[in-house]
Amino acid sequence: ELFSDYNLRPELISAIARAGYTAPRPVQQASMPAILAGRDVLAQAQTGSGKTLAFAVGCLQQLNFNKNAMQAIVLCPTRELAEQVAEQCRVLAKDMPNAKVLTLCGGQPMGPQINSLRHGCHIIVGTPGRVVDHVQKKRITLKHLKVRVFDEADRMLDMGFTDDLAVIFAGLRGPVQTLFFSATFTEATTALAQAYLRDPESIKV
Ligand code: AMP
Repeated sequence: ELFSDYNLRPELISAIARAGYTAPRPVQQASMPAILAGRDVLAQAQTGSGKTLAFAVGCLQQLNFNKNAMQAIVLCPTRELAEQVAEQCRVLAKDMPNAKVLTLCGGQPMGPQINSLRHGCHIIVGTPGRVVDHVQKKRITLKHLKVRVFDEADRMLDMGFTDDLAVIFAGLRGPVQTLFFSATFTEATTALAQAYLRDPESIKV
């Protein structure tokens, strides 16, 4: 299988090639058809499996970058992970000059985040604690949200972010695509997945 089998935007094909990725990894082969079809996905995948590219390409393929509106939100357990995910998104968006990816993590100064939110972005990558703060202060609207990603959901649960996740999405109106990634599935992770996913394609790699 090749990335060119997926009917991706040419700007994505070129960025993937330039990043040096030749063949899709197993997690990508298993999840990308469903992701690109707009379906919800429940994936058991480890760090290092290549899951980031699968959901980043899903967002970059499906959003409208001519519309100045936040359309995808990726939630991660830690700042380090959020920064890696945002970097991966930016690399893959290299040939989409309009695409704006904003990182929103705790432990970072508020001022620049507030400013960036005012200027607008298409994709937010952040940690739940900081994102919920911006949502509650109405600096983020979910009105145009199309895709939400729970990355390393088991670790977000371990870190006590369950309530923040609920508050972030409480104001959501209308359906969105949900992509849910976790390395392990306990009772709590499964319950969280059930709360957010509709008829998901389940994959395990
Ligand atoms: P992740 O599990 O998303 O953290 O990815 C782990 C590493 O695999 C990252 O450094 C990616 O740059 C790399 N990677 C992702 N997809 C591919 C691919 N198809 N071919 C080669 N490397 C990849």
